Amino acid sequence: MSVNTSSRSVSVLIPLALPAPYDYEVPDGLTAEEGAYVIVPLGSQEALGVVWGPGSGEVDRKKLKPIIEVLDAPPMPEAARRFIDWIAGYTLSPRGSVLRLALRAPGALEPQRMRVAYRLVDKRPARMTPARLRVIDTAMDQFARTARELAEAAGVSDSVVRGLIEAGAFEEVELPGEAAFPEPDFGMSGAALSPEQAEAAASLRAHVAKGAFASVLLDGVTGSGKTEVYFEAVAEALARGRQALILLPEIALTNQFLDRFEARFGVKPAEWHSDLSTKERIRVWRGVAEGRARVVVGARSALFLPFPELGLIVVDEEHEAAFKQEDGVAYHARDMAVVRASIGGFPIVLSSATPSLETVVNAEQGRYDRVALPQRHGAAELPSIEAIDMRETPPERGRWLAPKLVAEIATALAAGEQAMLFLNRRGYAPLTLCRTCGHRIECPQCSSWLVEHRFRRELVCHHCGYTAPVPKACPSCGAVDSLVACGPGVERIAEEVAEIFPEARVALLSSDNHRGPLSHAEAFRAIEAREVDIIVGTQMVAKGHHFPWLTVVGVVDADLGLENGDLRAAERTFQLLQQVAGRAGRAERPGRVYLQTYMPEHSVMRALVAGDRDAFLKREAEARERVKLPPYGRLVGVVVSSADAALAQKWARELARAVPRAEDVAVLGPAPAPLALLRGRTRLRFLVKASRGVNVQAYMQAWLGAVKVPAAVRVSVDIDPYSFL
Ligand code: ADP
Ligand code: ZN
Repeated sequence: MSVNTSSRSVSVLIPLALPAPYDYEVPDGLTAEEGAYVIVPLGSQEALGVVWGPGSGEVDRKKLKPIIEVLDAPPMPEAARRFIDWIAGYTLSPRGSVLRLALRAPGALEPQRMRVAYRLVDKRPARMTPARLRVIDTAMDQFARTARELAEAAGVSDSVVRGLIEAGAFEEVELPGEAAFPEPDFGMSGAALSPEQAEAAASLRAHVAKGAFASVLLDGVTGSGKTEVYFEAVAEALARGRQALILLPEIALTNQFLDRFEARFGVKPAEWHSDLSTKERIRVWRGVAEGRARVVVGARSALFLPFPELGLIVVDEEHEAAFKQEDGVAYHARDMAVVRASIGGFPIVLSSATPSLETVVNAEQGRYDRVALPQRHGAAELPSIEAIDMRETPPERGRWLAPKLVAEIATALAAGEQAMLFLNRRGYAPLTLCRTCGHRIECPQCSSWLVEHRFRRELVCHHCGYTAPVPKACPSCGAVDSLVACGPGVERIAEEVAEIFPEARVALLSSDNHRGPLSHAEAFRAIEAREVDIIVGTQMVAKGHHFPWLTVVGVVDADLGLENGDLRAAERTFQLLQQVAGRAGRAERPGRVYLQTYMPEHSVMRALVAGDRDAFLKREAEARERVKLPPYGRLVGVVVSSADAALAQKWARELARAVPRAEDVAVLGPAPAPLALLRGRTRLRFLVKASRGVNVQAYMQAWLGAVKVPAAVRVSVDIDPYSFL
């Protein structure tokens, strides 16, 4: 719908923390349709904005400032704009702050530079060499390529190509500033699907073909071929001329995944994650906006890309907590993806081997469809899972691996297989303690211990990133050589493994010993090529990977996630350990998984050992329903923080006094947050508990709107919180 230009006034949303768009005048000669990207005056500056709708008419026409420029880009699609409005309303964030999430490609709206490319003409140079011949051979297809691309494709140096250009063998042509997006080939045939897979794929394809909103849970055990199956849905969307988005947790966005996409569709998809260069960001953002990028594989922020023709979203590993954004606009990308699909009127597939309780309940209550893949593909069987009772059979003194686990690793190695040890804790040791005075080394800005990272020779705060060298003497009592490392991190496990198996080749995989999500590619390649015998890793290794020779998986501390008492502790521990276990025995050789635990009788361990996910979920659901916790009730987290402790406390008390009375709402707190100090700010928490029918947004607005908090105090609101720290 385009704005009635005779009104000559439009509202423009600016990507700053502003709750509403401002009115601007459209000067004669400019057309500013809804969604257009514009430059407008803002105070004494110029700002980028998006035309959000007709002017509100609230400002005197004569006082309106004119739009300076309308930028040359396809307007932001209506669905993308309605999505921004919806998230702002749901998360209680300023609309401008949400818009900012959609404009994360600075420069994408500037005029695009052209590139010089070359096309072969009929003139051949006087002097021919084998290298020159290769270039000419390559260019015979008459495609226009840059000099660099030509040299690369022909496997020659740049100077060979330059020589040919000087000799007049090529004509110059201009290409758009960015490399094109090769079109995925949806007609290629994928893997030959098993009957169960084919049925699941047909069901997903039918949803896409129908082109109406629906949420579908793709519920299949690890290794059942969920990826192959949802690729069929992607193919269907492509065949119908729609774009598709595959959302993955950032750490699951690996080269292995991109390669699988390429094997199915002939080309790499467009990628979107935090590690992209600015140039690549611009390329993908423009490519999506102009409809040239047909499939995007991305982390949660890819939801905000301006797709004009989106026809399918897949959320892989839908249960992952990484989809929850905690800072700034606090949104859950899986939940918001469902909203995006509903606004766009197309289906969404939520894929997992361990779906979240929220999604399972939605499926049970009929709001979501459910497509199941209960078996591993081919000959592969699900691994056996056994608990090792650390009270009965503890490791040797100063060690962390129980004798049984060590023996199983030895067996695997002797058979030429691989083993993996999983511990969800980075670094060498989580606590450094003084033997003389008992002092524990803490972060000066947070209420947390510093973690020793021995490779980097540093103590690191995992909350704020503070680092310090490991001291020689105790900072409290001054005793020399009295500090001891307590407890294990993955570095310490790798050290122990190297001592026990000096011949074995060990790979340590942790998010902090390499750069970025894709740079672990080399390690993963080495594992696939069987150049590694033992893998030691954090949750980086838990997801998505397929290592055919991996048969033994040991979980060093299965109880770790149960220590924090939040409402999803058991659910998350179950999901994580099930995922880790799922790495074992994915090909012909059966897998064996060992959980080191001090609580083998805990319901999580019992369910894992018995392989009874559904019984676990049922118990978990009953427990939550009894106390009306999500998904049977609603929560809102509120954190009051300030660099001034007294101010934080005072305003938390003020807020407590202003709590509105409402039926079916209880406000707990304020209480010091578990992380009572973070980056030097004192933090207090409230927790709002409401029944499902309550409009918590309206409640929160009534509450927070009644208290005028000074700028030195921050009140952050988290609807549906996942973190309670
Ligand atoms: P999931 O996503 O459910 O864990 P994947 O899609 O990763 O499962 O499949 C596990 C492995 O089995 C992968 O290596 C995949 O290529 C292979 N696979 C799955 N289905 C088929 C099939 N129909 N034909 C051949 N290989 C398959
Ligand atoms: Zn810190």
